[in-house]
Order: sequence, then structure tokens, then C-alpha cells
Amino acid sequence: MEKGREIFDVAIIGGGIAGAGIARDAALRGLKVVLFEKATFGSGTSSKSSKLIHGGIRYLELAWLELKKGKCHEAWKNFRFVFSSLKESAILEKIAPEMVRPIELVVPIYKKEAQNPLAVYLGTLFYGLLAFLTGNPKTPRILWGKKPVLRLIPHLNPKDLAGGVIIWDHIADDKRLVEETIRSAIQTGAQAFEHALVATYRHNTQTGLYELTVEQGGATKSYSALKLVNASGPWIDKVRHEAHEMGGNLIVPVAGSHITLKKFTDYSVILRAQDKRVFFVINTGGYSRVGTTERIHTDPDTLETREEEVEYLLCTLERYFPGLHFESKDIIAKDSGIRPLAKPRDSQIPHAISREHEIRIGPTGVIHVLGVKLTDHRRAAEEVVDRIVVELVGIRPELKSKKTTTHLLALQS
Ligand SMILES: Cc1cc2nc3c(=O)[nH]c(=O)nc-3n(C[C@H](O)[C@H](O)[C@H](O)COP(=O)(O)OP(=O)(O)OC[C@H]3O[C@@H](n4cnc5c(N)ncnc54)[C@H](O)[C@@H]3O)c2cc1C
Repeated sequence: MEKGREIFDVAIIGGGIAGAGIARDAALRGLKVVLFEKATFGSGTSSKSSKLIHGGIRYLELAWLELKKGKCHEAWKNFRFVFSSLKESAILEKIAPEMVRPIELVVPIYKKEAQNPLAVYLGTLFYGLLAFLTGNPKTPRILWGKKPVLRLIPHLNPKDLAGGVIIWDHIADDKRLVEETIRSAIQTGAQAFEHALVATYRHNTQTGLYELTVEQGGATKSYSALKLVNASGPWIDKVRHEAHEMGGNLIVPVAGSHITLKKFTDYSVILRAQDKRVFFVINTGGYSRVGTTERIHTDPDTLETREEEVEYLLCTLERYFPGLHFESKDIIAKDSGIRPLAKPRDSQIPHAISREHEIRIGPTGVIHVLGVKLTDHRRAAEEVVDRIVVELVGIRPELKSKKTTTHLLALQS
């Protein structure tokens, strides 16, 4: 290492929501932070989401099904996930009201979809209670029978429609949330670079430092840090492999696509596709964003929206909005992203994989952050930085007293 080179406390690879959240939290606790983003902030999966900050009412349904099967541990895990996601929604609305706003979502109930309306009504009321307890005061509504549902969404297929509910979640300007989080980190003293690709890293056992090789502004530069966080989302394994890190893949890369149409319903809607997967129509401005799909795609640099994904989305629209006859020519935009889900030890089925984030430590101590969502990014960042603080407190005793403040401080100045 060159004499006199700056040493950072934490270097972060990736300027998506995961890296942004960690940079902000670490900077606010007084750590010297540097973040590298190979493209532009938020250009990865974080700007390809369904844009919901949500408790995930379907995880409540899962918790109930597991409880009925006597799988108490799994049920508890799902219940806890919903509870903490709702708590995060309330926090994000409080600290970033311009980017995270409440949204009403209509959930129609169809007879042939094996949903017992009474169970849905009770589940919704319970979701509303959890939301209330976690600081989201807006109450859900029950739509008894098909008439009130059709009054709200006149183009919806009336066949077998049994009723519905209206729940409250939040909608986010996902890319801006990343950008503002990084801006806040920079204002607090962090350094963050766009168009800075971390080509490789290594752990120097003599100095105890991580040495990063970064391609930046047409040059190759070196940086050193006491701690290294790999928050490169779908690129996590690619980055690890470039650095010759041992071990198998850490993520299951589940790609998902959306299409954007001219707004065709006054209300955003949650439906179930033919294969029982959740299907969103989310209104943003004058557009309806329709998604999503699920398929494994390992190389994030070659991701494109596939024709069969578009067909699947149009088919599901035809099923629920048969009078509107959407075709490819009606599509204004399409986009795809990869969910960097933590690879479980015993399952490869996308919908069976936990949506909870995970922290895994590499053989040389690199902190790999997996499966972070827009919704839980602040909590995930807190966990990562808590861990870093514990490890650095020996050489920086003043860090001991520094708890996170990201839940208290507004994101916009
Ligand atoms: C279809 C879909 C819908 C979703 N909907 C929702 C939703 O409604 N609500 C929700 O909460 N979550 C949602 N998610 C999940 C959420 O969007 C992702 O989990 C989250 O954005 C992942 O963030 P990240 O920072 O880990 O990854 P990314 O946003 O992909 O960021 C990683 C960054 O690392 C950079 N990078 C990679 N390699 C390097 C390198 N070598 N050097 C420097 N930089 C590098 C990339 O350019 C990228 O910008 C959805 C995901 C998908 C795919």
C-alpha cells in the first residue's frame, strides 16, 4: 500500500437501495464511508420494482396457512416479517413523505380462486390492526359483494366476483429514494462515486485492510478500507467471483418484469394470476404499471424483458379486464429487474424462497448483503452497521454509544 493513502472505515460496493441505506446509516454514526456504483445511483433493480413499500398482506395469509399445518416457527417468521415491514412503511413515510406516500389498493375476491371471502375479510381486518399498531392509522375497508367493487373498478371481470377489500400500503418513487438516501449520506460526510466499477478486492492479512481496485474515470484506482460491504444486489456473486472468493453462489436471482400502459383504472389493484402468483396494477401518475413475473436469470448484465413475460402479463390482464383487450401496441414501456434473494440451503423454488434479507460473511470477512427490499432497506442497513460498529469499537471506542438515527432524521433537507 502507498504511504499516506486515505483509509476508509467502510467501503461499499453498489449504489442501489441496499448500499445507499448502509452508507447513510454508517455516515450518520460517524464512520468514514466510501461507496462505489458502476453505473448511476439506483439504476439496478432498485428502479425496476413494483414501487410498493408494503407489509405484504400475502405473508399474513402464508402465516395463517402454516399455522394451520402446525408449522409454528414458519408462521411466526412470516408474521414477524409483516409486522416489521409495516413498521418500516410508517417510518419511511415519516422521514421521506415526498417519496413514500400512502396508497389505497383494491383486492377483489373471486369465488373460484379458493379464497374464502370471510377469511380474506378477517385477514384484512387483522392486517389493518397490525398496521394501526405499527403507526399506519388508515383503516382498511370491506366491499361486501360484487357491486361496490365494480363501482370502483367498472372494467373488472364480474364473473365469479364475490366481493373485495381495500387496504392501505405505500407507493415509492424508488429511484429517487435511492438518490436522496445517497445525497443524505454525502451531506453527512460519505463519499459516493458513480461510474466507478469495483473490478476486484482482496484482504491484506498484514495490514488487515481490504484493498479495492476501482475503474473510475478512465483510470484504475486503489482504495483501502477496514470493512468491506458487498451490496451489489444481483451482481453479488459476480463481484465475489471476480475477487476469487471461495464458496458457491449466495443468491437466487429471480428476474421480474413490468409493462406500463396508459392509466386504465382509477384504483390500483392486487389480483392473482392464473398460476396463483400475485399480480399488481399500480397507478403512478397517468400510467398503470402492471407486473410482475418470476424466472431465474443469472447474469444481470444480459437481462431483457422476454416476449413470454409480456404475453403472461397481457393474458392476465385479458382475464381480469376482458373488455379492454390490451395488445403489445398499447405498451408504453417495459422493464425488468432481478430480485437478489438469499439462497436458502434447501429450496430452489422462487416463491418458496424467503423474502427476508440476510447478511452472510465471506471467508475474509466481507459482509455480503442479500435480498434487501425497498421496504426493509433501513432496517437491513441498521443491522449491517450495528455489526460493523461492534467490530470496530476496539479501535474506535467512541462508536459504542452511536445507535442508528435513520428512523428519526428526515431524508430531504
Ligand atoms: C420485479 C420486481 C419488483 C419488485 N417490487 C418491489 C416492491 O414493490 N417493493 C419492495 O420493497 N421491493 C421490491 N422489489 C425488490 C427490490 O427492488 C430489490 O430487492 C432491491 O432493489 C435490491 O436492491 P440492491 O441495492 O440490493 O440491488 P440493486 O438496486 O440492483 O443495486 C446494486 C447496484 O450495484 C451496482 N454494481 C454491481 N456490480 C458493481 C461493481 N462491481 N462495482 C460497483 N457497483 C456495482 C449495480 O450497478 C447496481 O446499481 C422488487 C424487485 C423486482 C425485481
